[in-house]
Amino acid sequence: MRLCSVELVNFRNYERLQLAFPGGTHILFGENAQGKTNLLEAIYLCTCARSHRTGRDDELVRLGEDFYRASVGFVTDRGLRESVSIEYRRSGGRQGAPARTILYNELEIDRLADMMGLFHAILFAPEDLQIVKNGPSERRRFLDILISRTDRTYFRDLQEFWRVLAHRNRLLKNLRNSPQGEHPLAGDTLPASPYAQLDIWDEALALPAASILEKRLRYTGQLSAYASLSLQHLTSSKESLELHYKGMAGLETDMDRQAIMSLYLERLRRSRQDDLLRGSTSQGPHRDDLLISLEGADARLYASQGQQRSVVLALKIAELTILTEITGERPILLLDDVMSELDESRRARLMEVVQGHQVFITCTDPGQIAADGGAGGCATGWSGPLHYYQVRQGKINPLESPPKA
Ligand code: ATP
Ligand code: MG
Repeated sequence: MRLCSVELVNFRNYERLQLAFPGGTHILFGENAQGKTNLLEAIYLCTCARSHRTGRDDELVRLGEDFYRASVGFVTDRGLRESVSIEYRRSGGRQGAPARTILYNELEIDRLADMMGLFHAILFAPEDLQIVKNGPSERRRFLDILISRTDRTYFRDLQEFWRVLAHRNRLLKNLRNSPQGEHPLAGDTLPASPYAQLDIWDEALALPAASILEKRLRYTGQLSAYASLSLQHLTSSKESLELHYKGMAGLETDMDRQAIMSLYLERLRRSRQDDLLRGSTSQGPHRDDLLISLEGADARLYASQGQQRSVVLALKIAELTILTEITGERPILLLDDVMSELDESRRARLMEVVQGHQVFITCTDPGQIAADGGAGGCATGWSGPLHYYQVRQGKINPLESPPKA
C-alpha cells in the first residue's frame, strides 16, 4: 500500500495542509513541538478512527475551531486508488451534539466497523511502551485493534458486547438499589421479573463474548510465535518471549466458541451474587489481560527499560507480519522518533523490517537518519529514495535536496 496524499483542515496545529507523496522513505524533520507527530497521528487516525494519543476527538480540533478533517489518498498493492476521510464537528449532530463522519472513496460509511481494514498503516511511537508498562486495558486495546483490522465481525462483536454489558450493569445496579423492584427496561420484550431479565442479558452477553475470546486466544498464539522470533532477531539472543491470554478460570487455548460460551455462562451465574453487590460485571473480556513473559517472568514487573523497549518493538513487528499475511497488503510504516531510542544493532534490524514498505519517519536530526541507511551494520539501507520535509509551526516544506548539516 502506498500513501499518495494527505489533506488536513484544523487538525491539531495544522490549519490547512495538502501534500502529495511518492514511494520511498519520507523524513520529516524539525525542532520540538512543530507538528511532526501530529502528521503521523492524522495518518494513523485514518486506519481505525482512533488516535494513538487520545480517545477524545475534541483534542484533535485546532484550538478555537469547531471541526477537523483528516483525509488520505492511497493506492493498494492490487493497484486500486482509494481514499478515507474523517471529519469531526464539535456540534454537528442532533441538538448540537458532537458528530463524526467517515467517508470511504467519497461515500459515507454508516458503521465504524466498516472502516476497519481499509487503510493500513502501522505506527511505531514512544507511547508503545505503555503496552508493556501500563495496565491490562492498554494490552487489550493493542490486541483488539489488531484483530479488528483483519476481521470486521470482531469489531462488531466488541460493540455488541459493550452494548449488552452496559444494559447488564444497569440492571445489576437497579437490583442492588431496589432488590424487589421492577427493572425500568421491562416491557413488551423483557419479562418483568428482574432475575429472569438477568438470565436474558447473560445469554446476550455470552454470545459476543465467546466469539471475542475465541479470536483473542487464536491471535495471542500467533503474536506470541512471531514476537518471540522477532525478539531473538532483534537482540541476537536466545531470550524467550511468550504471550499468554489471561482470562476467566477454566479458559483454555484450544477451546471452541461453544465451550467458551458455556464456561462464560457458568462463570456469570457463579459470580452473580458478587456482581449484584458491586453493581457491575466482574468477569469477561473487558477484564482480561495479555501476559507478556520474558524468560518466564512478567515483563511489566521484571524487564529492564531496554528489554521492555525491545519487547515492544518485537510486538509491533509481529503485528506488522500478521497484518501483512492476512490482508495481503504491505502497510505503510510510521516511525515516530523511534530511531533515536534504539541502539545501532536494533536500528539496523528495524531497517531490514521496513524493506519494501513506504516509510514516514520523524526526527530532529535528518543527518542521523540518512547515516543510519548506510551504517550500523545495515546491509540494506532505507527503503527506496529518501525525501526530506521540514516541519515548522504547522507547515511542511518539501525539500529538493537533503538539508545541509
Ligand atoms: P517533538 O519533537 O517534541 O515530538 P513534534 O513536532 O512531534 O515535537 P507535535 O506533537 O506534532 O510535535 O506537535 C505539538 C504541537 O502541536 C504543540 O505546539 C502543541 O501545542 C500543538 N497542538 C497540539 N494539539 C493542538 C490543538 N488541538 N490545537 C492547536 N495546537 C495543538
Ligand atoms: Mg513528536
